[in-house]
Parts: sequence; C-alpha cells; structure tokens
Amino acid sequence: MPDAAVPARNPTRAVRIGRTTIGGGHPIAVQSMCATKTSDVEATVRQVLDLERAGADIVRIAVDGARDVQALPAIRARTRANLSIDLQENYRLAAEVAPYVDKIRYNPGHLHHHERTKPLRDKVGFLAEVAAKHDCALRVGVNCGSIDPDKAGRFGGDSVAEMVTSALEHCALLDGLGFLRYCVSLKDSDPMKVIDANRRFASERQDVPLHLGVTEAGLPPDGVIKTRVAFEQLISRGIGDTIRVSLTLPNDRKGDEIAAGRQILDDIARGRFRSVPENLGKRLNIISCPSCSRVENEAFVELAEKVRDVTAYARDHSITIAVMGCRVNGPGETDDADLGLWCAPTHVNLKRKSETIGTFRYDEVLTRLTAELDRLIASRRPA
Ligand code: SF4
Repeated sequence: MPDAAVPARNPTRAVRIGRTTIGGGHPIAVQSMCATKTSDVEATVRQVLDLERAGADIVRIAVDGARDVQALPAIRARTRANLSIDLQENYRLAAEVAPYVDKIRYNPGHLHHHERTKPLRDKVGFLAEVAAKHDCALRVGVNCGSIDPDKAGRFGGDSVAEMVTSALEHCALLDGLGFLRYCVSLKDSDPMKVIDANRRFASERQDVPLHLGVTEAGLPPDGVIKTRVAFEQLISRGIGDTIRVSLTLPNDRKGDEIAAGRQILDDIARGRFRSVPENLGKRLNIISCPSCSRVENEAFVELAEKVRDVTAYARDHSITIAVMGCRVNGPGETDDADLGLWCAPTHVNLKRKSETIGTFRYDEVLTRLTAELDRLIASRRPA
C-alpha cells in the first residue's frame, strides 16, 4: 500500500517481506500484530483481514508452542497478507513456522533459554538457514525488557548501549553468515531511549533497515503521542523503514494502530510536526503493552483503562506505572517501573520496581495499587 513521501531516508538496503519491501527507498511500511490466540484460527484470520483492510503492509502473529504452530497452515491458507511471526523463547520453532510466513522475528535476549551450551553463532546460523530455505526475512528484535544476559549490566547502567551492542552483534553474525535479508528493531517504552538507541545504531549501520516502535506505549491518546515523539525525531533524520504503533486497544479496534501510524507518517511528510510536550516523562507515565495472543485474561485492556482512570489524581507526579498482559514479558518489563502490574489468568501481580508486593484478584488490585501509589507519593514529599 503506498504511503506519503517522507524526508530523505538513510541508504538502507532493500529487504523483501512477502509482497512488500522495506528499505532501499521504498515507502515506510506500516504494521501491526494480532492480539488473538494464534491457535484460534477463526479469530486470528478475522484479525489479520481486519488489519489488512485497515492498511497494514505486514501483520505479525505470535507463536509460543505446538498449538500455535499447528494453526499456521490454516491461517496461511486463508490470507495472502505478508505474515511475520514472533518467536519467543523457543527459537527452534522457526523451522516449523517458516514455510507459512514471510518474516521471522527473533529476540536476541531469548536465545539463551534453550540449548544453553550451544554457541550463539550456531543458533543465529540455524535461523538464517531456515529463513533462507523458506524465502523469509528476519528481524533482530531487541527489547529493553529482555536484554541478552551477556550484555545486561556491562555498560554502567547505559541500557541503550546494551540494546545497541546486542543489535550490532547480531548484524555482524548475520553478515558473517552471508544472510543480508534482515532488519533490526530497538524498542523501549521510553520514547527518548527509542530515539537514542535508533540514532546510535543508525550511526554505525546506515545500511540496515530499521523497524521503529515504542513498546508498551499504552492507551490512546497518550500512547500515540509517545510514539509520535519518537517517530518524528527519527524519521525526520532519515531513520526508519517500517513502523508499528503499539497501543492498548480492544481486539476489534487493532486497526486503529494502522490508522495512527499512517497519520503520523502523513503529518511528517507534510512537515506537520507536533511540538514535544516540555514535561514529557516528568509526569505520571502509564505504560501498557499492546496485548497479543499471550494475554492471560481478556480483562487486561479494561484493567489498563481502569489503572489510567483511578491514578489520574497523581498526574503531576513523576511516576511510572506499567501494566502488562502476560507472564512472558510482564515480569521483566515491569521491573523498571515504580509500580507494575502483570496479568495472570485469575489474578494480577502487583510490584514495586522488581519486588513483588503480592497477587490480587482483578477486582481488588486497583485498591491496592492506589494505596501503594499514595505511599510512594508520601515518601517523596520533603520531610
Ligand atoms: S506483555 Fe505479554 S501480552 Fe503484552 S504484548 Fe507483550 S507478550 Fe503480549
């Protein structure tokens, strides 16, 4: 789907993903991710088609286990969408999913989970071989919440350096293997870190196409504003070949992510930049994941909305609250928040930084959250 012209772009190489191509001067592609259970073929196909109708160039689906893998042939048979697959911890599933998709995203921070003694180069080699055999592109998807343990803590608390180093390492591995059909993403929930990480990476590797996104940007409209800030700063510098706006939305409104992405691209192309709010990040900051097939309880989106509503009284306090949908990324990605909630099937885990305060029912956690918030605000008052 064509998009508006954008300012001069970095000379990235072209990477084909099914019937679309990113980089190499091609229009910036807009993508989103299904939040349905991948094993639920009907619901997933419906959402893939909805996202395509909304203008998605690429649609991503998560695959966590055998039931998701088994659903893929049926999903593929019912859509021509350019499908990307999101591998979690079991990188070896790539071999089973590759015949049905156009791109495979792997997270360098998750490769250590299996076959711990196997060299990293061999694992990346396996992924490159599978991708090449099945005509797939790869995305090296580095995420602030799941940094490769070999990099974590090595740069004196500079989490951006950890991300960039991990991405550069994987680019070097793939280049060394002769596999060049890949792009990179460096995501954080803080738009300033997303800007910093992508600028640092692009200064080293102008040739590698970049997938931009602010992870767990949260509920609209705040989530759109955070994302816009990052995209304006990067795309206006020629950085970015494909984008995803990650918003916490009910399943039937996932297409809004595509609309938001196209609107941001269109505004940038027309020179319509929104000023960055001066106090961005210095007020109450609620980050919440965009949800995906791994969400453990459908009540997650409603919970995120309620968290926003019941904490509104603290809007002038520089406090971050994270709300995550599952146990896969929830525990790690709430560690840096002042207060965090991650959802399990029947209860919600409430945290203060990395410490778990307790687990609470969905209907009682908000009371505990506001009590903790009050305590935090009181502790920051001058004596
Ligand atoms: S935190 Fe879990 S549910 Fe939310 S987007 Fe990430 S993997 Fe999906």
